[in-house]
Amino acid sequence: MVCIGSLNLDLVLRVDRMPGVGETVTGHALERHLGGKGLNQAIAAARAGGSVALVGAVGTDDAGAWMRSELAAAGIDDSGVASVDGASGTALIEVDAAGDNRIVVVGGANAWLTADYTAEQVRRYPEAAVALAPLEVTPSAVVGALAAAHAMGLRTILNTAPVPPEGVPPELFETVDIMVANEHEAALISGHPVHTLDDAVNAGRALCERGVRTVVVTLGPEGCVWTTADDSGHVDAFPVTPIDTVAAGDAFCGVLAASLAEGRAWTESLRRANAAGALATTVAGASPSLPSAAAIDELCERTP
Ligand code: ADP
Repeated sequence: MVCIGSLNLDLVLRVDRMPGVGETVTGHALERHLGGKGLNQAIAAARAGGSVALVGAVGTDDAGAWMRSELAAAGIDDSGVASVDGASGTALIEVDAAGDNRIVVVGGANAWLTADYTAEQVRRYPEAAVALAPLEVTPSAVVGALAAAHAMGLRTILNTAPVPPEGVPPELFETVDIMVANEHEAALISGHPVHTLDDAVNAGRALCERGVRTVVVTLGPEGCVWTTADDSGHVDAFPVTPIDTVAAGDAFCGVLAASLAEGRAWTESLRRANAAGALATTVAGASPSLPSAAAIDELCERTP
């Protein structure tokens, strides 16, 4: 499968309390993590056993070199990740003693991606079966990538996180086979509030009327609901005790894509995606929480 999206260096600063304007406080830890939805979803898919190529961009800084070495370690093909002069995408995340955070994200090299570049790179993978793209890069870069993938006959998956301020580009409704949205995104894009399973079906159906073939709405501890023009279903979540829900959606999308690319059936793929999302909530952080294929299989076997 081929994944198109952002790669970020997440710098986490631990502080007792946030500084006020003009104030300096002393932090007590600085952590460096992999981040960006493209990178997280590619790693989720690779850990679940997928054969993954990533299309994106990093800077010519140390962070870019580090992200590349981590991609290689995860067995991900990074030949579609461009090296662009300047800084890599970076998120500066301050976390205080109460666990509240403040985040500044700089797009850096991610902002370099264009529709022509992503389309050209996707065309290198005619055997990929599935193309997956979250919306954390310039929307036109996603439009170009998924249009190329669709034209090649790949199954296209759009993760609507984050919804761009100007909304989801209308061209995507024609080229997307599967749209994965959490309940907030589904409500925002469809205009239908989503509180119940029936609401999720209604929102999904409204999006199908706009051209998407299948909509999956993820519902946290309620699992997910899928909808097509004339059918729908609910797949239960796995019972876990969450400690940090960061990257649950990334785990879900990466593992759904990898499972479909392996040729697994629709509901089995959704079940594995639910298992991956559930497992991601049981470990702190983003990339450290993305589960292995063995952990996903074990949870699926253990839970009827
Ligand atoms: P996002 O992180 O994008 O807001 P969700 O919160 O809907 O997305 O989580 C994605 C998936 O992760 C859910 O569909 C579900 O399978 C799993 N998940 C999330 N939170 C929980 C939870 N508390 N218990 C079990 N599974 C969960």
